Amino acid sequence: MDSKSLFAKAQTLMPGGVNSPLRACKYVNSEPVFIENAKGAYLWDVEGRQYIDYVFSWGPQILGHQDPAVSEAAHKAIDHGSSYGAPCYGEIALAEEINKLIPSMEMMRMVSSGTEATMSALRLARGYTGRNKFVKFIGNYHGHADAFLAAAGSAAAVVPGTPGVPEEVTSHTLLAQYNDLDAVKELFKESGDEIACVILEPAAGNMGLVLPTDGFLQGLRDLCDQYGALLIFDEVITGFRLARGGAQERYGITPDLTTLGKIIGGGFPVGCYGGKREIMEHMAPVGGVFQAGTLSGNPVAMAAGLATLKRLQECDYEALEKKTIALSNELVSIMKEKGQSVYLAQAGSAFTMYFSDKPVTNMVESGQCNADAYATYWQQMLANGIYLAPAGFECSFTCFAHTDEDFEKTLEAARKVQF
Ligand SMILES: *Cc1c(COP(=O)(O)O)cnc(C)c1O
Repeated sequence: MDSKSLFAKAQTLMPGGVNSPLRACKYVNSEPVFIENAKGAYLWDVEGRQYIDYVFSWGPQILGHQDPAVSEAAHKAIDHGSSYGAPCYGEIALAEEINKLIPSMEMMRMVSSGTEATMSALRLARGYTGRNKFVKFIGNYHGHADAFLAAAGSAAAVVPGTPGVPEEVTSHTLLAQYNDLDAVKELFKESGDEIACVILEPAAGNMGLVLPTDGFLQGLRDLCDQYGALLIFDEVITGFRLARGGAQERYGITPDLTTLGKIIGGGFPVGCYGGKREIMEHMAPVGGVFQAGTLSGNPVAMAAGLATLKRLQECDYEALEKKTIALSNELVSIMKEKGQSVYLAQAGSAFTMYFSDKPVTNMVESGQCNADAYATYWQQMLANGIYLAPAGFECSFTCFAHTDEDFEKTLEAARKVQF
């Protein structure tokens, strides 16, 4: 088996040969490698080549692949049956752990993906406030539910207002540039009594990493309080990543509702939304807002998620951040020596090195980066054994399984890149 022939075959069976668009590697003018095995910080493709991973399944595997405690928990759970469709203890155990790390999530509901978490949180915000409009930021990605597919980030960034979403559905979606508090003030001035919520990535990860500027999150908190709208933090990437307690811990701003995904499932399909008890009690069967799921609270996924969160409590976030700062700054120096203009954004164990001569604070600036330079960098890094996200507008992630030697090898690979 080789990646090239597998990709050819895959394209006869799946659109673009993939089950999620970015995996096709179009934005780096390449074809994907097919992965056969993953352990610790490494991936192996079907041809036996080893890579140092900086994608980690787009975020979930912060402990590295096949963390022994997580694997053991999942194996044990499977031996008790893979799905019940009835309550199980694992749901309580995971919810308690989440509540411990993110106290603003007084009550929560498990689902099976980040997409489900955000679409349910939006429905709840609308049901709770009795309002339809909501504010979303250009270049923020909240999964692929219809209402969010207006100027979304990630793979959706290149398909603005995707076909298949009726205009009426996104007519309630009010858009603003990220970090533009004045634009949000204007939206509230115009239609404040119709706005159910503001939803955002408290540090954006789907237009490259874009950090909130000073006062932005607090400003949104104040506006929501002033107009009786809910503030929703989509922490699907940032949860357990920017800090153990997510972006809300790191920046000290408390949202009304939080959505989680990625890390929370330890590599299994889990999403979660939650927040103030009084709001969450509007969900069925206590309240009238409907949401359900056949595999929600799946016992294997709960066990893997719980093992992941427990392991994270022994992990040294500060040490990983320090290493991430050192690695990313050194990458920047290497690129600059090669005559490239780069701008670095970094927080916790996430960073994006933009091929840009200006700071990136929103989607417009992210969109102006040099995609060709990133493609060249990506292709040669892959050839040198480094697996990066196949698009310049994504984050790179470090993980607790990376060693100093891995970082040294990564820098060596970067030194060899030719533009
Ligand atoms: C990945 C992501 C989602 C969607 O999660 P899925 O599990 O892919 O459905 C939602 N919001 C953010 C911020 C994400 O990064």
